[in-house]
Amino acid sequence: MSPKNFQDLINEVHNKGICQECGGCVSFCSSAEYDIIALKDPYSPPVYINKDQCLECGICYHICPQTHVMDDELFKTFQFKGFSSMPIGNYINIYSCQATDPKFLKYGTDGGVVNSIINYLIEKKLIDGSIVSRTDAPFSREAAFVDSKSGLIKTSGTKLEVSPQLSEIQKFCTYTDSIQKLNHYKFKKLAIVGTPCQLYTIRCMQDLGVTPSQNIEICLGLFCFENFLFDRMQIDKFEKDFNIKLENIKKINIKEDLILKLKDNSAGERLVHIPFSHLDDYIRPACNACDDFTNILSDISFGGLGSPDKFTTVIPRTEKGIKLFNKVQDEGIIKCLELDSAKKLHMKELIIHMSQQKIKRKEDFIKKLT
Ligand SMILES: Cc1cc2nc3c(=O)[nH]c(=O)nc-3n(C[C@H](O)[C@H](O)[C@H](O)COP(=O)(O)OP(=O)(O)OC[C@H]3O[C@@H](n4cnc5c(N)ncnc54)[C@H](O)[C@@H]3O)c2cc1C
Ligand code: SF4
Ligand code: SF4
Ligand code: SF4
Repeated sequence: MSPKNFQDLINEVHNKGICQECGGCVSFCSSAEYDIIALKDPYSPPVYINKDQCLECGICYHICPQTHVMDDELFKTFQFKGFSSMPIGNYINIYSCQATDPKFLKYGTDGGVVNSIINYLIEKKLIDGSIVSRTDAPFSREAAFVDSKSGLIKTSGTKLEVSPQLSEIQKFCTYTDSIQKLNHYKFKKLAIVGTPCQLYTIRCMQDLGVTPSQNIEICLGLFCFENFLFDRMQIDKFEKDFNIKLENIKKINIKEDLILKLKDNSAGERLVHIPFSHLDDYIRPACNACDDFTNILSDISFGGLGSPDKFTTVIPRTEKGIKLFNKVQDEGIIKCLELDSAKKLHMKELIIHMSQQKIKRKEDFIKKLT
């Protein structure tokens, strides 16, 4: 019997409305040079372009975060204890940290820790660059390759909406035309920043040894409760629903709710907290079928939840992640708050609570589908 292939993804994932549009299947299609599948519309799942050329190899089906074919294998490879480690995955300790570089701190989403770690890796030549995400408007997104501090500062901050990081890697990998344009980078080692769905696919590829995942040196994972879909109509509705002008949004944060920092003529700035429960009309449908809040397959996870303003919650996980975290702390790249056991327990409880809420949302969503 031939392995399940892209047609099965269409039947089992796309048609159920649970495709995360992560681009993983497209980026890592074994026959990418023939353009067999593509993400044609940023708001829709990938489609067949050249079905006749499909090798029916099953790679796309295997690596899709929504098929969960590789879950057990990944937990073994990446030193996880299996599903028993849910809901927040493997960890030894949880920290609340801040970048010591004033620029990363100023422009960071929370404590500017993610970008300051990437910058450290670049400066020490431990990586050639990183796939990050940049924005030029609230809720807009674009994956980008950065290899300098100025590039990182420019791309700082959280962009909601999904960022097709994996497709961006495709552009840098060896089997597409676009690699020609990027030859001057000559990169060997990359960091990648991503949400749990994005990193899941990367881990699958690393586990299967599929090019170009060998170039990914470190996976920096962001917490993620949900992401949003905004077309023009949704933007108008959002502005009306919350009495907000998108053009006035200065900063977006996301912890246990959505936090918008707005320009306000009378008061200068004001903060608006929007609970996730009020955002049901804007959530990407696929996020309802996702149950990983803390990015359990990353080398280090980062979020805002549990930490004070301008601090990032950090969960080092793998051996590689723990080593890097200790190094950046020792070298003064980041500093961590001294937390007593009561504060740590509180942080952990908040993170577990949010993770359980996400798991429950998925269970309810899947029940509705069946
Ligand atoms: C879609 C999304 C949902 C999130 N949901 C939560 C949540 O529910 N609760 C919570 O506590 N934290 C959440 N986070 C994480 C939080 O917003 C911060 O990213 C995290 O705390 C790191 O902060 P920092 O200041 O250390 O990072 P910074 O130093 O500011 O670096 C942030 C890095 O993230 C990259 N990035 C930004 N947006 C994206 C994106 N869409 N896809 C991939 N990379 C991106 C940037 O390019 C940058 O490299 C979410 C992040 C995203 C992107
Ligand atoms: S060639 Fe393989 S990876 Fe590409 S679409 Fe077909 S089954 Fe999927
Ligand atoms: S979730 Fe990602 S890998 Fe799965 S079908 Fe959708 S785009 Fe492809
Ligand atoms: S909730 Fe899940 S599917 Fe949605 S963006 Fe976050 S990690 Fe991806």
